[in-house]
Amino acid sequence: MSDNSDTIFGRIARKEIPADIVYEDNLCLAFRDINPQAPVHVLVIPKQAIAKLADAESHDHALMGHLLLTVKRVADQLGLENGYRVVINTGKDGGQTVYHLHLHLLGGRQMTWPPG
Ligand code: 5GP
Repeated sequence: MSDNSDTIFGRIARKEIPADIVYEDNLCLAFRDINPQAPVHVLVIPKQAIAKLADAESHDHALMGHLLLTVKRVADQLGLENGYRVVINTGKDGGQTVYHLHLHLLGGRQMTWPPG
């Protein structure tokens, strides 16, 4: 962990501040969002420092696949059998506020479209 280690999620990944962790392995961490937008709102982050999706590179492809499969694993673990939504906000226009790559897993209610 290096360049973005000063983000709040970097600090959570290093266990410097607490989070409600629902899954962890050597590559990633999943924890509940502090301001949930659905009955289930979990964030999946890589432990490796990647600020945003737009910064991911071709050599990150295995990690990116792992993050997506981790979302599926956590959704199964939390019983979201009726479905769920996965969101990655990227950059200013994407509405990203924390510059440590994260996948939102939202479920437990009917989602609507389009998003705001
Ligand atoms: P973004 O807008 O960058 O896609 O999403 C950032 C998310 O991080 C928001 O949903 C926000 O509620 C969540 N968040 C911000 N700070 C913290 C924190 O300290 N702990 C947790 N668990 N979630 C946070």
